[in-house]
Amino acid sequence: MIINLKNNIEESKAQELAVQAEAFCIFDGAKYVLINSSSVKELPQFLEGYTAEFFSFDNDLQLGSRKYLPETRQIQIGNVQIGGGTNNTMVIGGPCSVESEEQIKSSASLMKELGVNILRAGAYKPRTSPYSFQGLGLEGLKLLAKMRDKYGLSIITEVRDATQVDDIIEYADIIQIGAKSMYDHGILKKCGKAKQPVLLKRGFGTTLQEFVQAAEFILSGGNQNVMLCERGIRTFETKTRFTLDLCGVAYLKEHTNLPVVLDPSHAMGYAYGVADLSRACVAMGVDGLIVEVHPNPKIAKSDASQQLNHDEFRDLLATLHPIANAIGRKII
Ligand code: PEP
Ligand code: MN
Repeated sequence: MIINLKNNIEESKAQELAVQAEAFCIFDGAKYVLINSSSVKELPQFLEGYTAEFFSFDNDLQLGSRKYLPETRQIQIGNVQIGGGTNNTMVIGGPCSVESEEQIKSSASLMKELGVNILRAGAYKPRTSPYSFQGLGLEGLKLLAKMRDKYGLSIITEVRDATQVDDIIEYADIIQIGAKSMYDHGILKKCGKAKQPVLLKRGFGTTLQEFVQAAEFILSGGNQNVMLCERGIRTFETKTRFTLDLCGVAYLKEHTNLPVVLDPSHAMGYAYGVADLSRACVAMGVDGLIVEVHPNPKIAKSDASQQLNHDEFRDLLATLHPIANAIGRKII
């Protein structure tokens, strides 16, 4: 259940009630909110007098549900917003990994030229093989921060371990939790204590229920700036890298109040399908699209097969505006 306490309830009282209710207690900017796992249909008596609103749920999709907040949560990223009443679809572009200053500079200047506000690139790469490029680490974060300063872009980069969260907050604007880390409760809880927006990717073997439960870890920790990212799930199909679950996206849009971002690059695994899929994603009326773009994909140190080159990305972007406009949305 969720209890919105009255606005005048002070922290000490809210904490006391939280202990009694065995609940998480968060402050949402205006009031204290208690959340626990109980599905009782009636407000417990000891909370009467302190409660402004009471919500009962039959599963763990609580803070993230439209039953609690009907409107998509608004998230501020640099000087752009998504969610709320904005109807914005933000595009995020950039290489899979930061590889060198020259490479990331080339990507950053392309984003700037095309009016894309957010640059992606991993510094800590969660590779399947220990023999693959693992990322530049802190040096990569510093290069990203340099691009942020030089080009005025917001930066999204992945955290692979809870101990990296503080550095990512220092050098970037959005914390990306990768598909392979989606169940890492150390990372989820640490991100719950942060204020920065978090892009939570769906694990490739994760049900929608488990996905929203992972998001609830962050929300119940106190960070309300959570975006959900569908990036493909593993099915019986082997011709494509994963299967982009657009039915799941429809579910998330209907039932959750969290902005939804789609990643066609990792789903497809091959550059040839990424433009068509991106258009399908935008047509879904989502809040964001994240695409891997590399100055020279052939020599990329990770995910070489799926990254668009600069011309392909430029051409793709031009086609997204009319699709977004046709459904009353705006590419930002
Ligand atoms: C990435 O964004 O480069 C990445 C590793 O994505 P995912 O976690 O979806 O595999
Ligand atoms: Mn990648």
